[in-house]
Amino acid sequence: MARKLNVTIVGGGISGLLAARVLREKHNVTVIERQAGNHEFSAAITLGPTAINIVESLGFDRKRGGTMAAEKVLVWNKNFGRISENITKKYTSKLNGEFTFSYRRDVWDEFLRLATSNEFPGSPANVLWGSTVGNVDVESGTVYLDDGRKIESDLVIAADGIRSSVRHLVLQQEESVHARPSGSSAFRFTVPGDVVREIHLKHGRTDDPMAPNMNLYMSMDGTQRTCVTYPCRSGQILSCAFVAPDKLIARETVESWAAEAEEGEIRRLFHDFDPLFLDLADRAVKPRCWRLRDQDPLHSYTRGCTMLIGDAAHAMTPHLGQGGTQAIEDAAAFDLFNDPAYDAYSVPEILQMIDRVRRQRATQIQTWTREFQGWKKRALEEKYTWYCWSYPGIKECLTRLDAGLEMIELKHFNETDAK
Ligand SMILES: Cc1cc2nc3c(=O)[nH]c(=O)nc-3n(C[C@H](O)[C@H](O)[C@H](O)COP(=O)(O)OP(=O)(O)OC[C@H]3O[C@@H](n4cnc5c(N)ncnc54)[C@H](O)[C@@H]3O)c2cc1C
Repeated sequence: MARKLNVTIVGGGISGLLAARVLREKHNVTVIERQAGNHEFSAAITLGPTAINIVESLGFDRKRGGTMAAEKVLVWNKNFGRISENITKKYTSKLNGEFTFSYRRDVWDEFLRLATSNEFPGSPANVLWGSTVGNVDVESGTVYLDDGRKIESDLVIAADGIRSSVRHLVLQQEESVHARPSGSSAFRFTVPGDVVREIHLKHGRTDDPMAPNMNLYMSMDGTQRTCVTYPCRSGQILSCAFVAPDKLIARETVESWAAEAEEGEIRRLFHDFDPLFLDLADRAVKPRCWRLRDQDPLHSYTRGCTMLIGDAAHAMTPHLGQGGTQAIEDAAAFDLFNDPAYDAYSVPEILQMIDRVRRQRATQIQTWTREFQGWKKRALEEKYTWYCWSYPGIKECLTRLDAGLEMIELKHFNETDAK
């Protein structure tokens, strides 16, 4: 786009800050965030090949982010009986990118640096902390803040998360656009690495609990209780997510978004898992219960000069670990606005191009994430994995669609191997 646009981004989470990093190169960017800053928490995040490659190309520093490259995904039963070992190198060597573990707060700090520091091209984004967007005229780009301020924009990006207040304005629909409970909740917490080592020694385990592996411990009894652990912050912290069906969590926590866990609650729900897990739960730092929600795929992500991205566009449960990654791919797509090849197009036309690619991809992943819950379709895991981590970027996807090809080429997936 030859002219400099005034871009307003609603929400300073993962997707909003990264979109700001992309667009600041050529445009004036304002991010409106209702929190006062320093608000990102809730344990850790896995970013796979496509996501980590995108963020690194934009200046993300793994060292600052305490990001660890994953080596293995190990699946166990609840008593440490090994079920499978998936060496991630099988994927990473072919996909030219790694699977990584990071503490969410560290990733968010890095994204804030990318959006606002002077180290990167263009003008730093201006973040209005503690400001809430109350309404958006999605056609004209006028953004109304609750405190009475009004911001005229050429491009509005709604990155306001799973409880987006812009989503229904884009869809022009009040009903069926909200994320709904998926049937399970995750108790998320962290445990300091030295405490984890102490607990492992107490239980006579000799393996290194802070090795860069994702461990999945499954109840295997039809109750679909699962513990997922992996280290982050350069091995200083173990991230834990204990997932259980809502019907076993008999209290109001499941009605809220992220309530504090009750004393002894995790122990009660996972009482039959190896005692080591119960000790981990007892030493949990700030355990919270997240009711896992997802949203039906939307019929559009854009209207006028406004675009939904991240969880506002395609909230999904974490079963395929794709929510943050799809948010990152969305943000990267705004690079079309920096490319002179797209100078002749209007803002709504470019948003339609982004919608064409991003909605097809995120809808596919939302659909598979739903299928994947409860581990019902493990045989398809291989196909899902290749699809999730194969994304050639917005321009290549548009070229492939124009040529009548599948948007995502599964070069390395072999149907026979997966059976
Ligand atoms: C238990 C769990 C585990 C997960 N694990 C993974 C994982 O391993 N890998 C992965 O890729 N994804 C994971 N996800 C998903 C991932 O966390 C989300 O997809 C991602 O955070 C979405 O980012 P976002 O920027 O769209 O939204 P958010 O991070 O929610 O940011 C939205 C921002 O908008 C602000 N905001 C909202 N409304 C307004 C308003 N009106 N005005 C101004 N500001 C506003 C909010 O304060 C917030 O800062 C997980 C999710 C959960 C619940």
